[in-house]
Amino acid sequence: MTTVAFIGLGHMGGPMAANLVKAGHTVIGFDVAPPALDAARGNGVTVAASGPAAAADADIVITMLLHGQQVIDVYGGGLLAAAKPGTLFIDSSTIDVDSARAARELALAAGHRGMDAPVSGGVMGAEAGTLTFMVGAEDSDFAEAEPLLQVMGGRVVHCGGSGAGQAAKICNNMILGVSMIAVSEAFVLGEKLGLSNQALFDVSSTASGQCWALTTNCPVPGPVPNSPANRDYQPGFAGQLMAKDLGLALAALESTGTDARMGTLAADLYRHFADEGGAGLDFSAIINTIRERSAN
Ligand code: NAD
Repeated sequence: MTTVAFIGLGHMGGPMAANLVKAGHTVIGFDVAPPALDAARGNGVTVAASGPAAAADADIVITMLLHGQQVIDVYGGGLLAAAKPGTLFIDSSTIDVDSARAARELALAAGHRGMDAPVSGGVMGAEAGTLTFMVGAEDSDFAEAEPLLQVMGGRVVHCGGSGAGQAAKICNNMILGVSMIAVSEAFVLGEKLGLSNQALFDVSSTASGQCWALTTNCPVPGPVPNSPANRDYQPGFAGQLMAKDLGLALAALESTGTDARMGTLAADLYRHFADEGGAGLDFSAIINTIRERSAN
């Protein structure tokens, strides 16, 4: 069994750490938010007084934070210095590729190892232990981390070297953002043409328009009973996170000179959606802004 330091016990990190405990690992956790610490304690996590205190006795350190700069600050703020030589640092936050590579370089410079392993699957996936991990790592580090990641995820994909996990995450979520907008626009157009939502779903869910945004996270209530649309768009995957991920995609499009007009437009639409009341709603609620803009 492994001793794991878990830094960032929020919506995702909390249940991920709890699943490691359930599997018999020793988890020493830290979060700056006291409620997150209380919840983690209740799930069997040993709570430390600080990040460095959590890392000191760990074989593996997992971070689940919000932004790239946060990861770099936490690494440089005592975490790397406190860890035993050669500790494997796994960052599962969704951050930009450059920050992911910079974080690993910091780990290497401090005598450790590092990898990026962002996830897809949301809070429900974190709770159920069915996340998909997208990993950017050396082969030997991947082999060491894989059994632990399997505890938290149903699928663990080795995408390549450092930063490849974040690259996969950004590309996947660009597909998701664009496809949710396309599905939502099709439902609104169908409504205006007098087509029932169920009829469009019955056709497209088994025809060439089939995609996850339609068949699992359907943006209209009814056809998929447990999609967020059936519970007033409570997330699910919040609009602010989609806006954040598409912001990462936009920065990557610009830095690589990639001409992705749909991705660029999706980033703009989700930024506005999040700024104008959609931040805390499931990202599929963007259908309501399309409906509002289409009212005549
Ligand atoms: P969250 O805000 O719930 O959790 C982040 C946690 O980090 C918070 O509890 C915060 O208090 C803690 N934190 C901040 N600074 C810290 C520090 N210096 N030391 C220790 N703890 C610190 O966010 P989340 O929803 O759990 O998301 C975490 C990451 O996972 C993000 O990068 C997000 O984009 C990604 N993600 C989220 C989802 C989702 O559905 N929520 C899905 C996939 C990926």
